[in-house]
Amino acid sequence: MNPSLLHALQDCPPQLAQALRPYLTADTFNASFSAEEIAALQQASGLSATDLAVALLPIAASYAITPLSQFHVGAIAHGVSGRWYLGANMEFALAPLQQTVHAEQSAITHAWMSNETSLTGVMVNYTPCGHCRQFMNELNCAQQLTIYLPDCAPQSLHHYLPNAFGPKDLGITDTLFDPQSQPFASHPDPLVRAAIEAASQSYAPYTRAYSGIALEINAEHWVTGRYAENAAFNPSLPPLQSALIILQLQGYPVSAITRAVLVEIADASISQQSASEATLAALGVHPLETVTLTLE
Ligand SMILES: [Zn+2]
Repeated sequence: MNPSLLHALQDCPPQLAQALRPYLTADTFNASFSAEEIAALQQASGLSATDLAVALLPIAASYAITPLSQFHVGAIAHGVSGRWYLGANMEFALAPLQQTVHAEQSAITHAWMSNETSLTGVMVNYTPCGHCRQFMNELNCAQQLTIYLPDCAPQSLHHYLPNAFGPKDLGITDTLFDPQSQPFASHPDPLVRAAIEAASQSYAPYTRAYSGIALEINAEHWVTGRYAENAAFNPSLPPLQSALIILQLQGYPVSAITRAVLVEIADASISQQSASEATLAALGVHPLETVTLTLE
């Protein structure tokens, strides 16, 4: 178990810590809990679902990477399947602050990359910033999404973001978490195919610049990341950040990356290439392979 996860476990209530330890020490732990596991943790700890989620926030926050702020934020996205997905903020030294990942984006992307079809709520240990409120307004559940905070009554997203501007104002009806399947051609390289699959499922209704990334780990397997666009543009989450979230939550250091492939649309109106190269270079990862394809 990584030291920060162990440290967070030691700060849990004793009965919960005892029940959690087998999950957190399992090689298969992927920073999420199924509905059955949540029920078992509730039974062992005597906590309500909401109190359990509050108690798990330090576990989520233990995944934070904060070389700039040392401010750890943890979030838990509640999938409609009943599974809870942990997430934490990520900062990148030597890269622009715009490359930062917020904890809510991490937990939500974790659920999206795990093929959840919607969310019911998001729990976070600090009140969501404006950037995250706008990011969450892109979700297909934005009208019904509940925001949970420790020591606060649950409130709707639109309590925190009244008079919201979002995808519906731009005529977009299929929004983030609704199924996406762009018709990319295939490719002989398996890692490129993985990036194509991510690009195919990316969400880019405003630019149609669908993109995805695959990061090869230890020359053995890979994680992928999909681009998640936003009606207000700036809260859009690049595909590299999406993949780095999954890399971190699966417990791999950036140094485990042995290849990185970005797939983009040829002649698209925007490109992820230069920003992704710069962020990867700041992390010591060279080079980024970029494959541009047309839709079939
Ligand atoms: Zn935020």
